[in-house]
Amino acid sequence: MVIFWGTEDRIKRVGFRGDKIKCENCHKSYIPCYYRRTVYDHFCAIPVSEITHTYKSVCPICGYNQFVQTFRFTEIANTTVTKEMQDISYIAVQKDKHKYDFVAMDNLTQEQILIAPNVSMFDIKEGIRRRGGKTKDLIIVV
Ligand SMILES: [Zn+2]
Repeated sequence: MVIFWGTEDRIKRVGFRGDKIKCENCHKSYIPCYYRRTVYDHFCAIPVSEITHTYKSVCPICGYNQFVQTFRFTEIANTTVTKEMQDISYIAVQKDKHKYDFVAMDNLTQEQILIAPNVSMFDIKEGIRRRGGKTKDLIIVV
């Protein structure tokens, strides 16, 4: 048996929840994706300290993280936002063989917000993950 001490530090994607919030960075208001960070000390994988949860929201447009107080997250925790209720779709608009414009589209107003011009498909998929989205929902426009 391997005996070990350590600190467990996990980040889990909770998903899109609750109402729109205004991003401090880009000042756009959309439903954010939430992440939970769990930290505790353990001995042989058994927690030996208090387990602390902290929450962050990530802006689906610019990817900026904002700290969210736990009680605020708890208030909205059960309000799941389904894909159909999602206010943002991600679009890759093909420019040439390997370059795309990375665009977010507001599903209500049809407004298109350019996130990054002339980037690779890899960059777009990374960008979607960082914003809490799912790459399988990406729409490619050629
Ligand atoms: Zn933002």
